[in-house]
Amino acid sequence: LISISVQVLQRWRRGEELFTSWAVPDGRWRKIADGIEGLIGDTPLVRIRSLSEQTGCEILAKAEMLNVGGSVKDRVALEMVQEATADGRLKPGGLITEGTAGSTGVSLAMVAASANCRCRIAMPDDAAEEKSALLQALGADVRRVRPVSITHPGHFVNVARREAAAEPGSALFANQFENLANFRAHLRTGAEIWRQTHGHLHAFVSGAGTGGTIAGVSSYLKSRDPRIQVMLVDPPGSSLFNKVKRGVLYAREEAEGKRLRNPFDTITEGIGINRITANFSLAQVDDAFKGSDREAVEMGAYLLRNDGLFVGSSAAMNCVGAVKAARVLGPGHTIVTVLCDGGQRHLSKFHNPDYLRQHGLAPECTGPDLSFVE
Ligand code: PMP
Repeated sequence: LISISVQVLQRWRRGEELFTSWAVPDGRWRKIADGIEGLIGDTPLVRIRSLSEQTGCEILAKAEMLNVGGSVKDRVALEMVQEATADGRLKPGGLITEGTAGSTGVSLAMVAASANCRCRIAMPDDAAEEKSALLQALGADVRRVRPVSITHPGHFVNVARREAAAEPGSALFANQFENLANFRAHLRTGAEIWRQTHGHLHAFVSGAGTGGTIAGVSSYLKSRDPRIQVMLVDPPGSSLFNKVKRGVLYAREEAEGKRLRNPFDTITEGIGINRITANFSLAQVDDAFKGSDREAVEMGAYLLRNDGLFVGSSAAMNCVGAVKAARVLGPGHTIVTVLCDGGQRHLSKFHNPDYLRQHGLAPECTGPDLSFVE
């Protein structure tokens, strides 16, 4: 106590702010979280210094890797489970099913455990082994099925739907693509962005997988200020770019060549789709950019080298989109995007030098210039 008093007195005599070193940040970090649910959402907005300096815009990103399950999908899993619990579709002891090889499974497994529910995840058996190992470690029951088209009854999404239907009254098919709880979870993401920027932003940029993020955030931000530009960044093999730019789901050349998205079309995971989901249909998108795998890989390496930011493939693609948006808007604008997850879940492909070299994608750029963004 005496030491603290002396320090305070010394600071006071030097005319310094008395309590700055004891100040605590705002938001969730100040509160004691009531269980893991309190560690979902309310993520910080990080200014990406290198991109901001190079573009002359403020490039800000929601640090979603800081959610308890390590990705933006925690928000969606929590909202889907909370809504289903509130209206009686899900009870303790009940079963949650989902068809996914992505982060949603991880988020659902954690949220389900906390809600005393069981979790069953169906995924294609060509998905990386470490994904099913992680889900099993989290207590989920993993069903691996042959990879077939979504129209086939054996597709992993259809398997998950059937497994829930087999336990009527006590099972929830989460259905992140069509379940609008996804959209509602991201209305909150939009509200957080609005609050954190005090409404001073000109554009929001994001890729879309289910479309929940871009739909929820765009709807909230435009409800507050319709001048905010919403821009989509779309990976190879996805046709949302054509939908936004030309009003058609496939470009003619894509449809003729039957180039529908498959896992080999792009290195990015979690973004890109060839149908309009219920969630994406609520998105208010003004413009779209195409992003290449090369740009995403270069950006992943760039952010690590220049900013110490280790992010996943969709987050890197979002940052590519933010740079393209900065070029369209010109210097002096504030652009917000999303860091969907961290790099740790991408060690076998996106952050694996051998894999990148084999696919001709080894990053080449050094230094802070952004000439790799076309
Ligand atoms: N990044 C990752 C890692 C994801 O798992 C997803 C969801 N599939 C997305 C981005 C895309 O977000 P959304 O589904 O909200 O469009």
